[in-house]
Amino acid sequence: MDVSNHPLAFLFILNMKTAKIVLLTVLVVAVTIGTVWYSYNNSSKVVASEKSVTDTKFEEIYITIRETGEYIRDISDTNVRNFHYTKPHKKFTILCPECAEPFAKPKEDLVEVPVERLKELRTIRREVLSLPTPSDQSPATQPVEELTTLEELDSVLRLLKGQKSHLYTNRYIMEMQYHYLKKHTHPRPGTHGGCPDCIKLRTKQTQETEIISQGEYDLLIQLEKEYTDK
Ligand SMILES: [Zn+2]
Ligand SMILES: [Zn+2]
Repeated sequence: MDVSNHPLAFLFILNMKTAKIVLLTVLVVAVTIGTVWYSYNNSSKVVASEKSVTDTKFEEIYITIRETGEYIRDISDTNVRNFHYTKPHKKFTILCPECAEPFAKPKEDLVEVPVERLKELRTIRREVLSLPTPSDQSPATQPVEELTTLEELDSVLRLLKGQKSHLYTNRYIMEMQYHYLKKHTHPRPGTHGGCPDCIKLRTKQTQETEIISQGEYDLLIQLEKEYTDK
């Protein structure tokens, strides 16, 4: 049907134009909203996956430091015990576990049992004697709390500081062992005891050095002698 000759034809044409504009606008808006939503959704997915990778790394770091700390603690304990035999202690020495242990035994009628072994033994007793399960054995239903990055860093720092103090003990004890094994003549062991031979070793361990030619060294010393008060 040809409507161009109709008296209201201009209305029809106008409507067609408006309809086209409206349709086009709706299409553009829909595409824009779709694009924005897609990119938002995608970026939040990227952020979420980055967070889970970071969390996994934090956990790995934490576990590694904790395990290293356990090795250092054991080394520390063994070193302290070795020192008892290096010296060797002839009378009770404070802070020495080898000296203290004979006195630290539980009193008569008391037995020291590892926690895991005790659990195992008590489970057997409960089963054999059909005893009720103690209420404190029911699993805790506490919500799993998420740690913030700062809290995670704090826990890592706590572990590192623990390791540092164990390593300090190790260094202290091993230096004393060196003193007695090498039979230094100074009456007190280690750098803290002012032993010059122990101090020499510490300096050698901590001082940064560079290898140069004998010729250059001799010249430097000669110049120092000539032009300074040394
Ligand atoms: Zn001892
Ligand atoms: Zn010494």
